[in-house]
Amino acid sequence: MPEVDRSSDLSNFPTTPMIALTAHDALLLADIQNDFLPGGALGISGGGEIIPTLLNYTRLFQTHSLPVFLTRDWHPSNHCSFRSQGGPWPAHCVASSPGSLPPPSFSAPPSAVIIYKAIDRDQEAYSAFQNTALDRHLRALSVQRLFIGGLATDYCVLNSVKDARMLGYNVCLLVDGIKAVNLRPDDGRRAEAEMIRLGAIPIRWKMLQS
Ligand SMILES: [Zn+2]
Repeated sequence: MPEVDRSSDLSNFPTTPMIALTAHDALLLADIQNDFLPGGALGISGGGEIIPTLLNYTRLFQTHSLPVFLTRDWHPSNHCSFRSQGGPWPAHCVASSPGSLPPPSFSAPPSAVIIYKAIDRDQEAYSAFQNTALDRHLRALSVQRLFIGGLATDYCVLNSVKDARMLGYNVCLLVDGIKAVNLRPDDGRRAEAEMIRLGAIPIRWKMLQS
């Protein structure tokens, strides 16, 4: 009698693998700022929709006393990325302007560390690690795994994940906590595929054990 091959029978496994937080985890959320939300200078369609989910992640990390890092794009008024200076973007996130601030629905928890980036006039910086102290902070806290979300999938999230992987961090990509600019319609999807190819684990809120 032929044996039944059950090697491909996954019915005994949970359909959603659960992930437990450890003492070496940190949360990194990119650029939740008014200018990147609908109505802002560089508003990302649907950008506001991820805020409730990002608040869930933030509260969970706080509950576990794990570090939370928030990046802010923080430009001088003549930043090289602005069209007026020959760059690709409209003026946005000029340091301390209303557009550079987080929306009222996403006020930073007092314990969060704010990482200001792209503050030099002559340098664009999409990654949270570029010319910032983020890596030093993470190493001082013995962080080994980063949960990364925010705006935008195809720029700051993508480049932060690339650098995190290059620097040796494990990465979980919050696929329900990102939105893409999509200058080309596929940019966000391509960026997600690229991050996963680099070793980022795609996760959703329901996969995290509280
Ligand atoms: Zn910028």
